[in-house]
Amino acid sequence: MPIKCSAGCQNNAVLKRPKTGDALCKDCFYWAFEEEVHHTITAAKLFTPGDYVAIAASGGKDSTVLAYIMKLLNDRYNYGLKLVLLSVDEGITGYRDDSLETVKRNEQQYGIPLRVVSYEELYGWTMDKIVQQIGLKNNCTFCGVFRRQALDRGAVLLGVDKIVTGHNADDIAETVIMNILRGDIARLQRCTAIVTGSEGAIARSKPFKYTYEKEIVMYAYFKKLDYFSTECIYSPNAYRGHARAFLKDLEKIRATSIIDIIHSGECFSVREGVKLPTQGVCERCGHISSQSVCKACVLLEGLNKGKPKLGLGKTSKIREHLEGTVDDPPSGGDTSSPDKLETNSDNTDNKKIDFNW
Ligand code: SF4
Ligand code: ZN
Repeated sequence: MPIKCSAGCQNNAVLKRPKTGDALCKDCFYWAFEEEVHHTITAAKLFTPGDYVAIAASGGKDSTVLAYIMKLLNDRYNYGLKLVLLSVDEGITGYRDDSLETVKRNEQQYGIPLRVVSYEELYGWTMDKIVQQIGLKNNCTFCGVFRRQALDRGAVLLGVDKIVTGHNADDIAETVIMNILRGDIARLQRCTAIVTGSEGAIARSKPFKYTYEKEIVMYAYFKKLDYFSTECIYSPNAYRGHARAFLKDLEKIRATSIIDIIHSGECFSVREGVKLPTQGVCERCGHISSQSVCKACVLLEGLNKGKPKLGLGKTSKIREHLEGTVDDPPSGGDTSSPDKLETNSDNTDNKKIDFNW
């Protein structure tokens, strides 16, 4: 016998919500999903009426659902936002060119204009060319650092007030785990923040901070949204892969693990007096950085000099050369998440850090 929707609507249930275990019909699932995102947006006061908001759009499931739901909630609740899709073309043949076709269709489907910025135009390098130089080991470090800055630069070109990204609860929980494993206190502190970058940079927020990846997939599937689901051809990303596998194992035993880890991340505090990086601007390119020369400029200099590895790691000769100093942060290592980079152009000195939790 069919199970009735537990929201009491008399329809038959067609799914079990991963987050709550509730048996719901499609319409009640849509409503619950949309209302939770709306609640996240309003509780954190992410927008003010009149804001011009760029939706970071890769064509993947998260950003496609984000674009769809931002439009829906903006119309339903009169947020008063002007929306634009902002995509970064990393120059990855057979991956990003195809996913950008999806974003172009989304532009038509949702009636939201699209702006694309490319690594080639901003840095003079595509990821295809970078991989030819660096191989498949540190490619995501380059890609992540450049993407983060490229989004900011695209946002400045558009003149937007805010950026929203499709980071979901699973991404944030993975990042918490990775930052704990690496002892990266600066990133651990900010990776659970729903808004980042307000100090000087254009504020970025994550309306899906509490939204489970499985529910985003379900929503996209039932709504028949048009998204691109192929993995990047250059995705090694072993480190995040392990964190993800660990999280999935935990989730099998305890469905609330994802939210629990996010809450744990939110509760970490750093003892008073611990030195954390301060934000300034890069003296070369003028973009936000906690170092006098930002990581993007250091990596770019290495590429342009034909010695890309020199821009990586603790012993970056390039940074010494650019800054005229021997101070260098520890390597970001594999700091990347495919398409979900919260890699920053800064880092911190782990030696000066104490944990306090
Ligand atoms: Fe860039 Fe992501 Fe591909 Fe790595 S996996 S090269 S970060 S798009
Ligand atoms: Zn710079």
